[in-house]
Amino acid sequence: MSETFFVTTALPYANGPFHIGHIMEYIQADIWVRFERMQGHRVHFVGADDAHGAPIMLKAEAEQQSPEQLVARIAAGRARYLEGFLIGFDHWHSTHSRENTELSQDIYRRLKAVGLIDSRPIEQFFDPVKGMFLADRYIKGECPKCHAKDQYGDACEVCGSVYAPTELIEPYSALTGAKPLLKRSEHFFFRLSDPRCVDFLEQWLGATGHVQPQVANKAREWLSGKGEQALGDWDISRDAPYFGIPIPDAPGKFFYVWLDAPIGYLAALKSYFESGKARANGETRSFETFLTAADTRQVHFIGKDIIYFHTLFWPAMLHFAGAPYRAPDNVHVHGFITVSGEKMSKSRGTGISPLRYLELGMNPEWLRYYIAAKLNANVEDLDFNPADFIARVNSDLIGKYVNIASRAASFITHHFAGALEYPGGTAELTQRARETLEQVQASYAAREFSRAMREIMAFADRVNQEFDARQPWVLAKDPAERSALQDSCARALYGFKTLTCLLAPVLPALAARVARELFGLEHPLSFADALEPPRHINPYQHLMRRVEPKQLEALLEAPPEKPVPETPAPSGATPPPASTVAADERSPPISIEEFKKIDLRVARIAAAEHVTGADKLLRLTLELGTETRTVFAGIKSAYDPATLVGRLTVMVANLAPRKMKFGLSEGMVLAASGPAGGPFLLAPDAGAEPGMRIS
Ligand SMILES: [Zn+2]
Repeated sequence: MSETFFVTTALPYANGPFHIGHIMEYIQADIWVRFERMQGHRVHFVGADDAHGAPIMLKAEAEQQSPEQLVARIAAGRARYLEGFLIGFDHWHSTHSRENTELSQDIYRRLKAVGLIDSRPIEQFFDPVKGMFLADRYIKGECPKCHAKDQYGDACEVCGSVYAPTELIEPYSALTGAKPLLKRSEHFFFRLSDPRCVDFLEQWLGATGHVQPQVANKAREWLSGKGEQALGDWDISRDAPYFGIPIPDAPGKFFYVWLDAPIGYLAALKSYFESGKARANGETRSFETFLTAADTRQVHFIGKDIIYFHTLFWPAMLHFAGAPYRAPDNVHVHGFITVSGEKMSKSRGTGISPLRYLELGMNPEWLRYYIAAKLNANVEDLDFNPADFIARVNSDLIGKYVNIASRAASFITHHFAGALEYPGGTAELTQRARETLEQVQASYAAREFSRAMREIMAFADRVNQEFDARQPWVLAKDPAERSALQDSCARALYGFKTLTCLLAPVLPALAARVARELFGLEHPLSFADALEPPRHINPYQHLMRRVEPKQLEALLEAPPEKPVPETPAPSGATPPPASTVAADERSPPISIEEFKKIDLRVARIAAAEHVTGADKLLRLTLELGTETRTVFAGIKSAYDPATLVGRLTVMVANLAPRKMKFGLSEGMVLAASGPAGGPFLLAPDAGAEPGMRIS
């Protein structure tokens, strides 16, 4: 039976850009989605930003903007990463949305109706200055065990003790420094410890295929915990002020962010259905009908750090809320990504920046292949090792795969005008391709990607060995061997076509190019193409560059140290605050006269449009008071043109016009970018008028 998949990745928290761990998870899910589509299944692949909670509220406050503005800014930067790494979500949404509010409140009401919601008062620290209850991470004080100062409210980083925030000596609010008061408040709880929930979860975890065996074991440990380890009820409410979804009939109470975050999967799906995109993807059913249909499979890809939420609360919430909601069919858990054996630390700034990877011009399909070559279906960490990366890309992708075409195609083009003949027949070749195809399909389906890549490369080895054994470069010199030459090259190119199909989920852009440019196929590649001997090729065009060790060095370079002042600070004095711009990125000084040569003006964006055939550019029509200019700006990755119209920005008005492929560009708009994201268009404060000079 054909199945329809609803696939998600964990929702990223909307307080910052993607890191390499997100990208690894998205690549894993994207490969699997592309594979299932090639198998003929329909897949709806959706994601969303996880937008709620105290950290976002406080960060927005510190940046003097609303949480909505902060979340919108982060969301605007997402496409650049997703497109950059060829990650094909069908839809991207937000948990701060109408759909999520409706679904979260609906699920809560249903759980309440079946007696799984309780309320009871709890005592919690309250910051009297800030006027808010404090989560453990916002309380600090002296460790009750080792008396280390300034420890967090839940655990001591010095001696490792775990305690309740009320046990801290001299506690204070990390937000204001105020002495927190103990205050009572009514909280709502999801009764996870109810025997109905425990029975259901035991059964759900016990059924094969819902989660990996090691994940089921971990979840069962929590489920059967005794004493202090016993499974507790789950506190799902937070008091105002809180950036979240209001709890129905409970003024001043909001859902804890972890209640509405997974419901965001369904909100994203609902928004995708209501936007008409699901219909465009061949789905004619309604959101509710689709969710309850027997052929629907709900699949979540997540990291090992959030197993607790996804294998206990989430299935229980969905199951007891009742139709159309239902527990997930699969929760696929992966490990973390490490770099050269070391765990990433965001605070130390080590690791791999996905944006830097793209900015260095590194091919996204290298990373996709490398991740595929190392991922299996277990919950194991994946180590990014630079030497290994270079070896896999250069020896597997270039040496074994791309080289087949680059070597065999030129003989066919030069001697046979592109025609492929198989004097030795194709039956045995097709049989061999079929055997490998079946193995590889089984490996992809089981998310054993590293096994799939080994099987594919073993096939490539056989194609290369056979090609080398026939010595076509020798055959080419002897007119009597013309038929043997054509046969040996045709067989190699048939193998190359099979390999291209097998690698297509991992290398979608390259496979599409090969299909179109080399084999002249008009349709998207399917696995049936793997068993169809090609009869003609177009001239070979260069397919992929080798990765250079210096690119890896640049990628893994530690972030530049903060600049040291040129003149030594007087003894005992603190050095001036370090700029956020690293010394080696600064331009040499210029005089004020030189600066004045630049005519900067406030401009109103009167129109913004996509440019046919341009990947990065938008065509902007700018009003400068008395005149209008056309400017091509490389900001397509970060901005939807519709959101730009009417905005004020800053332009260089006296830049010499530049003839571009798409027309004349009469100036330039200013935008900021850096390792954390961008481009971010500049905007003047309210009151500025188009045409005003900036100095
Ligand atoms: Zn301690």
